[in-house]
Amino acid sequence: MRILELVKNCTRIGISGHENPDGDCAGSCCGLALYLRKVMPRAAVDIYLESMPDALVRNIPGADTIIHDVTGKEEDYDAFIVLDSEPARTGKAERLYKRAGLKINIDHHRTNTGSGSAQCYIDGSASSACELVYEVIDKEQLDAQIAKALYVGIVTDTGVFQYSNTSESTMKAAGHLLSFGFDHSAAIREVFFERTFVQARALGKALTSAERLLDGKLILCSFDRATMEELGADRKDLDGISAQLLLTEGADVSVFLHETEPGLWRASMRSVNVTDVSKTASMFAGGGHIRAAGCTIRSDIKTAVRDIKDDIARQLADAHVSGI
Ligand code: AMP
Ligand code: MN
Ligand code: MN
Repeated sequence: MRILELVKNCTRIGISGHENPDGDCAGSCCGLALYLRKVMPRAAVDIYLESMPDALVRNIPGADTIIHDVTGKEEDYDAFIVLDSEPARTGKAERLYKRAGLKINIDHHRTNTGSGSAQCYIDGSASSACELVYEVIDKEQLDAQIAKALYVGIVTDTGVFQYSNTSESTMKAAGHLLSFGFDHSAAIREVFFERTFVQARALGKALTSAERLLDGKLILCSFDRATMEELGADRKDLDGISAQLLLTEGADVSVFLHETEPGLWRASMRSVNVTDVSKTASMFAGGGHIRAAGCTIRSDIKTAVRDIKDDIARQLADAHVSGI
């Protein structure tokens, strides 16, 4: 896909990504918006995303132009581009996507099956939506601002080039982006490693209250409303906990659950080698990648946890039989 070919005659372009945006979502939206504003100076390019942690706002150029409130927006965009998710996960912005003349979806979630009426570029093997944005733009137009936005997203989704989604093309793209000159060490520290005090306390609580199940192969932890209130934490403060739980020796899967509102739970899952957590998340209409997935649980949480555990046990047993 060449994005400019698709949108070159558009004068109003909207961009959005998934709810609770992470570095890849925000980086890809802002990186693409900065690029389009540069190459199509007469076009209006709007970005719609929910609010995000301060560290992302500080480190993603263009984040200061994000529109957070979709209420009352009735714009008919010539083109609307959804990045790092399927359109159904864009929350309130989905309405604007549906009204747009040209619908474009660029994503790396393997569970995104694409939609008939959209121009789709979905590659489940790509590290990040930012790597895909890097592919669809003209490299001659890259500058330090666009490069930093895309770099932050690649760093987020690869766990600073650690996870198995990191490929040769990821490293080549990241190396090229780095050549534009920005403070990459500070960006990595602030976006990936640094924690607010609330985040540090939430992680501590998760590490001390986690349970080892299935002979230590599954590490599970859940925060109910009371725990969330005691910590003063909201959803933004909990990103990264499932990845930290997974660092426990012997674990193949981590599941971190938190109650976002009474009776409504959000699950974040990670795996190392065997379990396909996108399958587990699909049981609750969620999805993601083999090694990182999520879902929202509206049903009885005890039953849901049992079903999650059973599914993981089954996957581990099947893998054992087939010698993985
Ligand atoms: P999280 O644990 O929330 O960081 O999510 C892990 C991965 O799964 C990310 O790439 C998310 O974008 C993706 N993901 C989370 N929830 C869903 C969902 N309901 N549908 C599809 N992908 C999801
Ligand atoms: Mn994302
Ligand atoms: Mn992503």
